[in-house]
Amino acid sequence: MPIKRTAIWHPFTQHALQDEMIEVVRGSGAYLHTTDGRRVIDAISSWWVVTHGHCHPRIVSAIQEQAAKLNQVIFAGYTHDPAEKVAELLLKLAPRGLDHVFFSDSGSTSVEVALKMALGYWHNIGKKRTRIVVMQNSYHGDTIGAMSVGARGVFNAAYGPLLFEVTSIPFPARGHEQTTLDALEFACRNESPAAFIVEPLILGAGGMLMYPAWMLKEMKRICETSDVLFIADEVMTGWGRTGTLFACEQADVAPDIACYSKGLTGGALPLAVTLCRADIFDAHYSKDRTRTFFHSSSYTANPVACAAAVANLDLWQTREAHQRLASVATMQEHGIEPFRTDPRFTNVRRTGTITALDLKASDAGYLADIGPKLQELFRDRDLLLRPLGNTIYVMPPYCVTAEDLDEIYAAISDAADALA
Ligand code: PLP
Repeated sequence: MPIKRTAIWHPFTQHALQDEMIEVVRGSGAYLHTTDGRRVIDAISSWWVVTHGHCHPRIVSAIQEQAAKLNQVIFAGYTHDPAEKVAELLLKLAPRGLDHVFFSDSGSTSVEVALKMALGYWHNIGKKRTRIVVMQNSYHGDTIGAMSVGARGVFNAAYGPLLFEVTSIPFPARGHEQTTLDALEFACRNESPAAFIVEPLILGAGGMLMYPAWMLKEMKRICETSDVLFIADEVMTGWGRTGTLFACEQADVAPDIACYSKGLTGGALPLAVTLCRADIFDAHYSKDRTRTFFHSSSYTANPVACAAAVANLDLWQTREAHQRLASVATMQEHGIEPFRTDPRFTNVRRTGTITALDLKASDAGYLADIGPKLQELFRDRDLLLRPLGNTIYVMPPYCVTAEDLDEIYAAISDAADALA
């Protein structure tokens, strides 16, 4: 049974409507085990972070070993082997042209760092370029800068006065891609923006909206032509979700700045990085102290989190990890396929290991009752699924089995019947 809430204020939770929490005692592979003895399939990788599975033995032992050796040290003026290894391995795996690695602690902070790098670059080379171009329906996090470049709505209405102005281009809906490209070209030509920030291939929290790789390539080409920095926010799409290690690979796009977090530690500990091109670093490299990149947080490059990231990066160098990706993508296609012709759903889609579908409903907004109702039905089936309004998506850890996915899709079909 779920337990009554304590003094804790939970994230994205309306306690007046959801006063009870499920207490989890153990995670293993694709499963969460609760105090009341239930085994829950984690069909959304615990907010998209768990990649190889909960408590992966190689990541766990890397954490244990590092925790006993050096578990925290200031990262200004000091460095350590786990961080050096993360940087070295990352630069091998990340898209070409990225030469420097800046550490932080979450997806939101990696975005804040990216925005500050972009503005710092233009400031330090003496050009007044401050505007940021964004894509409609984007989500980049919940800190003030990250909210400013994300979609405006109920989530940030109360904080509107704190958010800075941006230029928004439309999401490239199928058949309307040229409108997006024209809007980007117009903004780049007329507003001399500092940067364009985008989630490559999939807009996650904005509704699992998918667009093709050629669009990403075109958007990068437009930015390049106008000398606008291209920021790839791969916080969600990174670490295999779209079928390749990073989504940009599919478009052969080399971003100027890239943000990675979530699966960076395999989902075991909080850590984030912002990678950038050499000339962005160079614009801050000077004997003049005023040109320093003024950003830090106390736990920057925490050694234990870095050790988890090294273990994760090692796993990604095995053929097996990539084979798992391909097989999850195939299993996911098998699972979603019957829904493509199912009249109860629309917009049935898949990119790599992520599937999504929209349940036809009269009231489909994020805050509509249908979301919590669906969530409750899934909870009763021992499934962790957290629809975005009427959009149901499946983003499992890569150790998920075909049987787990069968259970998930059967529950989705039954939920549609129950709410019909
Ligand atoms: N950027 C994207 C694309 C995300 O999906 C998220 C979180 O879901 C973030 C940034 C923010 O990450 P975090 O929740 O770790 O701050």
